[in-house]
Amino acid sequence: MTKALRLIEANAGLCDVIVYVLDSRAPYSCLNPSLDSVIGGKPIVYALNKADLTLPSKLRDVAARLTVRGNIAAAIDSTKSNDAKIVVSLIKRICKARLDKFAVKGVKIALRAMVVGVPNSGKSTLINNLAGLSKTVVGNRPGVTRGKQWVRVDDYLEVLDTPGTLYPKIEDQETAYKLAAIGSIKDDVVDTNELAVRVIKMLDGTDPAIINTRYNIARDDGINGDELVAMIAKKRGYLMQGGVADIDRASAAIVDDLRKGRLGKVFLD
Ligand code: GDP
Repeated sequence: MTKALRLIEANAGLCDVIVYVLDSRAPYSCLNPSLDSVIGGKPIVYALNKADLTLPSKLRDVAARLTVRGNIAAAIDSTKSNDAKIVVSLIKRICKARLDKFAVKGVKIALRAMVVGVPNSGKSTLINNLAGLSKTVVGNRPGVTRGKQWVRVDDYLEVLDTPGTLYPKIEDQETAYKLAAIGSIKDDVVDTNELAVRVIKMLDGTDPAIINTRYNIARDDGINGDELVAMIAKKRGYLMQGGVADIDRASAAIVDDLRKGRLGKVFLD
């Protein structure tokens, strides 16, 4: 088992619930099946994050598919502080039986949650916003590794202040490109030109108008990915000496446009 997974396993043992942050643009690619084996059956709240960057109809399908076996899923934009409240209410809903069990004994307990997910999915942003709901840091507790901090969100919920980084399981090349497109694996793992061509192909699969509109191009049916990147480079004025299209610059721009949401709402999975 990797060090990152072992750490998640150790922390999950202290928690009642796991908040699994997925990038809504490629939610299935963000899933690592190894997580199940280290969380000891704890319920999962799937935070379908960056919902502002994807298609609502796709999100509804994803949420329905993940809301099984006692787990629950909801779309959020973790940059919005109000959306942190959605996560809080889902945690309480999923742990209702546990809260009720203590309530009948007249005992008030605080649930404990940890946030996990692949790099760049928005874990830290979500934790910051959860912490923003209440500024109290709970501090070290017995049984908790020294230095670990729990942030008290409200009377019934504490969240571990550091997220669990889950490295994605890259099952095939296509998954690697999707994860690269959303910035969840290092840029040097894939070739940027190839990534740009793949991004275009993935987007064309849902709606060719996305690329045509963004780059203001009209293309012939037969044009291939490399030619299209060259066309975009010329349209943008990304030229090298002699007027040759700067493919590297255009490729980087296409990937950056996708990551920053400038291509509009996209779904890659
Ligand atoms: P982490 O690596 O999982 O902790 O991810 P971060 O919290 O550092 O977020 C990565 C980037 O995604 C940052 O630039 C955030 O501002 C951005 N981000 C996080 N959540 C959202 C969201 O819901 N919508 C949008 N548009 N951007 C987000």
